[in-house]
Amino acid sequence: MSKSDVKKIQAIRGMNDLLPSDSPRWQFFEGKVRQLMQRYGFAEIRMPIVEQTALFARSIGEVTDIVEKEMYTFEDRNGDSLTLRPEGTASCVRAAMEHGLLYNQTQRLWYQGPMFRHERPQKGRYRQFHQVGVEAYGFDGPDIDAEVILLSARLWRELGLLEHVTLELNSLGSSEARAAYRDKLIAYFEQHRDVLDEDSLRRLTSNPLRILDSKNPAMAEMLDAAPRLLDNLDDASRAHFEQLKALLDAAGIPFVVNPRLVRGLDYYSRTVFEWTTTALGSQGTVCAGGRYDGLVEQLGGKPTPAVGFAMGIERLILLLETLDLVPDEALGGSDVYLLAMDDSATAAAMALAEQLRSELPWLRLQLHCGGGSFKSRMKKADKSGAAFALLLGEDEVAERAVTLKALRDDQAQQRIPQAALADTLSEQLTHTP
Ligand code: ATP
Ligand code: MG
Repeated sequence: MSKSDVKKIQAIRGMNDLLPSDSPRWQFFEGKVRQLMQRYGFAEIRMPIVEQTALFARSIGEVTDIVEKEMYTFEDRNGDSLTLRPEGTASCVRAAMEHGLLYNQTQRLWYQGPMFRHERPQKGRYRQFHQVGVEAYGFDGPDIDAEVILLSARLWRELGLLEHVTLELNSLGSSEARAAYRDKLIAYFEQHRDVLDEDSLRRLTSNPLRILDSKNPAMAEMLDAAPRLLDNLDDASRAHFEQLKALLDAAGIPFVVNPRLVRGLDYYSRTVFEWTTTALGSQGTVCAGGRYDGLVEQLGGKPTPAVGFAMGIERLILLLETLDLVPDEALGGSDVYLLAMDDSATAAAMALAEQLRSELPWLRLQLHCGGGSFKSRMKKADKSGAAFALLLGEDEVAERAVTLKALRDDQAQQRIPQAALADTLSEQLTHTP
């Protein structure tokens, strides 16, 4: 076989490599998230990426987009049906139940990681994508709903995104109220059968609420006039919703009530919400969640109130990039490039690099490796993006000194004693101690 016959193996469509030029943005975002979770008292949980297929079918719902057509399901070698997780909530509930975390206690948990859905790849929509999720268990009042919304709002504020996103809110009521409403809705849709598209006809008896979510403009007028779930809430859910709105008002978080917001998963009850943006085209939802008081029981546990949300990291990073909101300092690179001027100083350069890393733990120092002429070493120093080059030759080694050369402006280069180097760099470089 000749070389040209060998077909190059490429990544799976919709599953992206995260390149070194992308990772500083991700680390910036992930760092903010990690801090924020600590500040709000949420503890991290990490679940496996693969679960039994039944977990998702039972929780997300058989007649949802995810379970009907988006899951990566395969048979294990021993014949079990397994699925790459399409979302985190079901796994989180499974793990919390399995380890007794829901027994007589409350929990505030968060997680982060890849999710898998077989969707048509496009900007902001991938087959492997990443979410940060938050789940709180054992709280039934609207205060925790407001608390998780405030947590997300603070993240937007600190990222500079708050003015670019809108909070949409709705209540789905209790499952009983929803069942009664469902009948009303089916009756209404039956009267307007001629306007329903193919998808909606299919959902008419299996999942009529999802029809409300349709973006088909031909159905918009009919959907606007449909009976509203909000007008059909049970009293307790109505009170819960009113209290939540009052808490958000008191906290100064603006929101829009969207009576057609239903969410694509079956397990929600009462509060549902989405944070949306107009800056990303049609993939405008960056964070979505709500209350799912029935799910733990549905999966075989004791009735446990629960609320949570998930945000799509790719969409948020796209948004930060689009709006140019990642600060330059977060974009990485080195502070200092340290080089031996020729091979005779390699050991001394290495020793000095290690010394500096001990003295200045915040310093981002790249040591020249790989030899080469002096000219090529300086070229690499320049390319590294560092603010300073530290040069070490025979003279410097003999004098226990080093030559400091600014790479980004034309300060004159200076020779300074190695003993004074840490202080000089501390003065010259901005850093967070
Ligand atoms: P959409 O309506 O955009 O399909 P969804 O309702 O299916 O979203 P959720 O299951 O609520 O999404 O997931 C929460 C968040 O995860 C979404 O708001 C979005 O930011 C992100 N997300 C969902 N699916 C994808 C995907 N295929 N690629 C990238 N991000 C995604
Ligand atoms: Mg979807």
